[in-house]
Amino acid sequence: MDHDWGKVKRFEQEFALFVGAEDALAVSSCTAALHLSLLALGIGPGDGVITSPLTFCSGVHVIEHVGARPVFADVEPGTLGLDPAGLEPAIRRAKREFGARVKAIIAVHLYGHPCDLDALQQVAVDHNLAIIEDAAHCLPGKYKGRMIGSMYRSAIVPWFTCFSFYATKNLTTAEGGMLIANEEWLEMARRWALHGLDRDAWKRYGPEGAWGYEVLCPGFKYNLTDIQAALGMHQLRKLPDFHARRRQIAHRYNTAFARCRALELPVEHEDIEHAWHIYALRLKTDQLTISRNQFIDQLGSRNIGASVHFIPAHLHAFYRKKYGNRPDDFPIAYGAYQRLVSLPLFPGMQDQDVDDVVESVTKLLNAGTCAPGLHTPDPVPSQAEIGPNASTAPAIAKVLRRGFDVTCAMLLLFLLAPLFAVIALLIKLNNGGPVFYLQPRVGKNFKIFSVLKFRTMVRGADQKGLLTPGHDSRVTRVGRFLRKFRFDELPQLINVLKGEMHLVGARPEVERYVSLFREQYALLLRDAPGMTDPATLAFRHEADLFKAETLEEQYVSEILPRKLELSLDYSRKRCFASDALVLFRTILALVN
Ligand SMILES: *Cc1c(COP(=O)(O)O)cnc(C)c1O
Repeated sequence: MDHDWGKVKRFEQEFALFVGAEDALAVSSCTAALHLSLLALGIGPGDGVITSPLTFCSGVHVIEHVGARPVFADVEPGTLGLDPAGLEPAIRRAKREFGARVKAIIAVHLYGHPCDLDALQQVAVDHNLAIIEDAAHCLPGKYKGRMIGSMYRSAIVPWFTCFSFYATKNLTTAEGGMLIANEEWLEMARRWALHGLDRDAWKRYGPEGAWGYEVLCPGFKYNLTDIQAALGMHQLRKLPDFHARRRQIAHRYNTAFARCRALELPVEHEDIEHAWHIYALRLKTDQLTISRNQFIDQLGSRNIGASVHFIPAHLHAFYRKKYGNRPDDFPIAYGAYQRLVSLPLFPGMQDQDVDDVVESVTKLLNAGTCAPGLHTPDPVPSQAEIGPNASTAPAIAKVLRRGFDVTCAMLLLFLLAPLFAVIALLIKLNNGGPVFYLQPRVGKNFKIFSVLKFRTMVRGADQKGLLTPGHDSRVTRVGRFLRKFRFDELPQLINVLKGEMHLVGARPEVERYVSLFREQYALLLRDAPGMTDPATLAFRHEADLFKAETLEEQYVSEILPRKLELSLDYSRKRCFASDALVLFRTILALVN
């Protein structure tokens, strides 16, 4: 158990500083942070915890985990955050119907808009409740000039703030979270977060020597790891820029949709800073001929990934059955849910991406409105619509590209056949074993396929390390030579023939990294990956950039984001001629 907590501690301190707190506890998820808050408060069977039904299910599950009862209260129609006016009736109902003593409020800052915290605290004071902020969406956010994460400092009830660093969140460590509270509560949570170990007793060289520790409660294993902390610190530095970009995009949407009468735009109060995690529209379905679900499907068929946040928790089978909830029990949440559509929003989106979304949405509205003219913007017809053969042009481009891929791949395979034979022979002579190596990668529309490579590592090499530094002992002598000239990738010409890859396109990645950058890949993988593209060319010596100790950290925090930027940039403007040029440049780079 002799961990090096250095990076985690540093991340906690940097994060605390960022949100204006004195200290913070890094944990494995926001769900863990919420759970720890309830544990620290000693909430358990017989207790009730108020929360909004319009949230992610894990924020309700934690109440079940401690054996308490979720007490749903409806949201207010503007921000869709908990409605303070609904709390007193919910507390009374919990008492009367289930005999539950309500002990805490979980306030979900939905989409990144802080709840009305002053009003919530007023009720908390009156009824002796703690407040737990679910700030999974709200980083960075402000309420009346104060950072979300610093509210506990002026609070007069026990106060906890929980952040999420899940892959899709505003700051990500792939999985992770942070808990903030005053020192006393945080100490309690810290104990629950790591096996119930007493931190003071768990100092090396205590009375029992290096191995002594005391267990004070049956705690959980909720710690963040070093590599995640390293990612987190890196992300934290970029957070202000990310946030500025999110706000810009949200406002670009707001401006574009302002005149669409069939849309209800997200609410943004004046005394708050919105973290813009999610841009959620509400459709005025009474003015549309298509349903919300059809609307989302049709956006999907235009390659726009829209979604719904969230299916209200009280509608899920478990809660419905256990507590007999009816949809209409929380009419505002339920009514909103039926009309919600979240549009893509992430800092890597270019203005052009945002405009594509706007164009698709407005086109759909125009096609799907009850009476012509009811909806609004008079969108300027796009070039594609007025151009000749507009609808057949993309189909022709597709056929051309496929033709280009197949012709070039066949030609290259034919020309390279002697080289393939020599390489196969060398691999066999070097250490026997199979000539080829298959690795699962994420392809078009996130479908997994196997990329084909010449084997460059010793047989049965540990493939756990996904990255390979310049000098890796698993790489054979022949392998080193193949990698140096990138010959190991040549068999992917067969992937191209099979239609799983293009010649020119973003490199296919392993699932683990795709899930870290899901938003970017959602754009890139509308198309099959490729053997080469400008990002591949720019980073063709990437193995040399790796320092073995910080391999993954460096790849994920520096190299991959940059590659994705280049790939996305290229994918937007690629055409037949530019593809041919990239291919030519790649061949030049190979023979040089
Ligand atoms: C994502 C999310 C969570 C859970 O966060 P994890 O870090 O994945 O546990 C909780 N609440 C809300 C509102 C979320 O969106």
